[in-house]
Amino acid sequence: MGKGFFQVPTAINEPVKSYAPGSPERAAVIAQYEAYFNGNVDVPMYIGSETVTTGNTNNMTPPHDHQHVVGTYHLAEKKHVTQAIEAALEARKKWAQLTWEQRAAIFLKAAELIAGPYRAKINAATMIAQSKTVHQAEIDAACELIDFLRFNVEFMSQIYEEQPDSAEGIWNRVEYRPLEGFVYAITPFNFTAIAGNLPASAAMMGNTVVWKPSDSQIFSAKVIVDVFKEAGVPDGVINVVYGDPVMITDTILASPDFAGVHFTGSTYVFKELWKKIGNNIHTYKTYPKIVGETGGKDFIIAHPSANAKQVATGISRGAFEFQGQKCSAASRVYLPKSIANEVLEYVKEDIASFKMGSPADLSNFITAVIHEGSFDKLAKYIDQAKADADAEVIAGGNYDKSKGYFVEPTVILTTNPKYTTMETELFGPVVTVYVYEDADWSETLQLVDGTSEYALTGAVFSGDRYAIDEATKALENCAGNFYINDKPTGAVVGQQPFGGARASGTNDKAGSAQNLLRWVSPRLIKETFVTPTDYRYPFLG
Ligand code: NAD
Repeated sequence: MGKGFFQVPTAINEPVKSYAPGSPERAAVIAQYEAYFNGNVDVPMYIGSETVTTGNTNNMTPPHDHQHVVGTYHLAEKKHVTQAIEAALEARKKWAQLTWEQRAAIFLKAAELIAGPYRAKINAATMIAQSKTVHQAEIDAACELIDFLRFNVEFMSQIYEEQPDSAEGIWNRVEYRPLEGFVYAITPFNFTAIAGNLPASAAMMGNTVVWKPSDSQIFSAKVIVDVFKEAGVPDGVINVVYGDPVMITDTILASPDFAGVHFTGSTYVFKELWKKIGNNIHTYKTYPKIVGETGGKDFIIAHPSANAKQVATGISRGAFEFQGQKCSAASRVYLPKSIANEVLEYVKEDIASFKMGSPADLSNFITAVIHEGSFDKLAKYIDQAKADADAEVIAGGNYDKSKGYFVEPTVILTTNPKYTTMETELFGPVVTVYVYEDADWSETLQLVDGTSEYALTGAVFSGDRYAIDEATKALENCAGNFYINDKPTGAVVGQQPFGGARASGTNDKAGSAQNLLRWVSPRLIKETFVTPTDYRYPFLG
């Protein structure tokens, strides 16, 4: 604490810009997209005060135009990872002692830089790296990251305010110390906001970080680094390395100073990480904090009382925006027989109206999936559904990777509620629908609960309050974020803290005080003003 009880600015959600024809933001983002697309950036690693190049590089290519190179990035050797750990530990000496309002000011400044001079850059980079439409880039890279930074500053000040009572003659105080050691942030490809938030939230609480972004997101991660540098994040506080995830992870997890991992990505990778941390547990100076948000098999269930058009819109937006590559994307749908045909006709009409192509053409609603591995996996499941007797492709079903990794939004109809695509996370624009008898509503709720290992998001559509109440209770444990008469995607920081349970993660709710609490280790200080001088209590006579 400095010399005052400072109040942080009240956090408000960043308004989403429209990018409508003629708007200044549209012109700015198109110009920036062109500049990046026709440029050739060489992205170094950032270790302490150094920008490190190794000469061992990978190309960065947009998923919608995979032969077009927009730059290169440098791959770490083991020694660079060790240097990053050392840089983090060195920087910790000053960073952990810096007063909180100075840390807050840095991240509030980062939010304003993204809202202003870096908005077009971070959005254009996200359109190129992850093939997001301009709207998807705006709600992620600009607005959600700004919200994470602003709201986390507010949550941090609320945490610091939380203090114990003090009985007469003593004063109890709690200091929210950063973890003793360094934090490892591992981020996924699909959200630029998550990539920025995972290292920043730990750093905001006074920790220093080694950050490994996804190979598929490095082009937009570079803009995050530029923002953090301009905002004044000191050298060594967030160190950035790229390359072989196993080598990097094994090197980091072997360090006695490893104090926590902030992970978002797939379930298998997280479980393997947990296992490795367990195997190394005798190495560490402290019990590492393990925070992971992972996969999902998110559902929509409609009750016979639901409005068919609303359900269809929930599916069209919830399953297909950003090509279904949101962890929250609807991928299994349960429709009652009485409205199923109507809903599916509306969905087919929507799909027929979607335009697919490069995000540079702002009239496209669907662009490419992230990489060839994802494309091939999706193609395999679609082909399987075409061949299987208990499944039928009723919309989409085509794919083409000649120029970009394009997969048509696809609807699979199955007669088997445990069909493989009702259970497996595909992470693409493929949704599977199961039609149930209206009379089987209650049994179908049990089916929803018991079908997947995940518990991330889910939605119920109904006009009947008793049915909504029944679904809310029956589905209590199968979604960390549960939606009533709304699509299961689009959580907003400060309004719908996000995270799931079961195999979907540790549910530490990104964008909430609960998450920030994982990055501190409180120290209680009790001070007694008149200290006893005789051990004898009165009862001793
Ligand atoms: P991914 O698991 O392939 O990669 C995530 C990160 O882990 C990347 O940085 C990757 O390089 C790294 N990694 C890969 N193998 C590793 C290993 N063996 N050891 C250590 N690190 C390793 O995930 P992705 O494809 O980037 O992202 C999609 C996944 O993330 C989906 O499963 C999605 O549901 C999930 N996700 C979840 C949330 C959530 O909040 N629950 C949010 C976004 C994404």
